[in-house]
Amino acid sequence: MSYEVMNRKMLIFSAPSGGGKTTIVKAVLKQFPELAFSVSTTSRPQRPNEINGVDYYFISTEEFRKKIANEEFIEWQEVYPGIYYGTLKSELERIWALGKNPVFDIDVKGALNLKNIFQSESLTIFIQPPSLQILEQRLRNRGTETEESLARRLGKAAYELTFATYFDAVIVNDQLQQAIQEAIHLVADFLHSI
Ligand code: ADP
Ligand code: 5GP
Repeated sequence: MSYEVMNRKMLIFSAPSGGGKTTIVKAVLKQFPELAFSVSTTSRPQRPNEINGVDYYFISTEEFRKKIANEEFIEWQEVYPGIYYGTLKSELERIWALGKNPVFDIDVKGALNLKNIFQSESLTIFIQPPSLQILEQRLRNRGTETEESLARRLGKAAYELTFATYFDAVIVNDQLQQAIQEAIHLVADFLHSI
């Protein structure tokens, strides 16, 4: 796969779980028809509101490990112990074949790995919650986590926040509409830059 085609642009969003990536990325996608969501592959259980092939490609841990061995991922991470997430090379090919640019919602390490690969063709945006307390409240309100997975996500959040400084841009997600507008401006500037 060649990564050196002109005019390719990738938007890479990252945040601690509950930071607001999904909400903000959906609003950005609505605004820019030339963008397409990069559907990641994961071994975590599907949530009731999620659609296989739309939110994620849900596969077993064994299948995930096989794909790692076959070098099918452009990047992957064991984001939580025993729970894998990654972007298949075939997913990027799918989006490029549509003539669109991919938007990623991935963890901090995956984001920086993609930045290393795509350099100036990529823009990394970190979505920062106003505080860890507010993050916890939002995660609880979302109602998708067990106490165990909530604790795992919060346990990792403080560490993830230390990565903000390595991103091209940081958006503090306090007032949602304002954060969405900031994201749209950043994306518009990047897409219209040469
Ligand atoms: P992530 O994809 O980063 O895990 P979500 O987009 O699912 O985060 O957001 C986590 C929860 O917080 C969701 O229930 C969402 O509706 C809510 N949320 C996101 N941004 C805000 C905000 N600025 N104010 C209040 N609630 C928010
Ligand atoms: P969730 O389980 O809340 O959907 O996602 C947990 C974490 O995994 C989030 O930080 C999310 O951005 C990250 N993630 C989702 N897809 C990928 C991916 O393809 N690669 C990497 N490295 N992280 C991902």
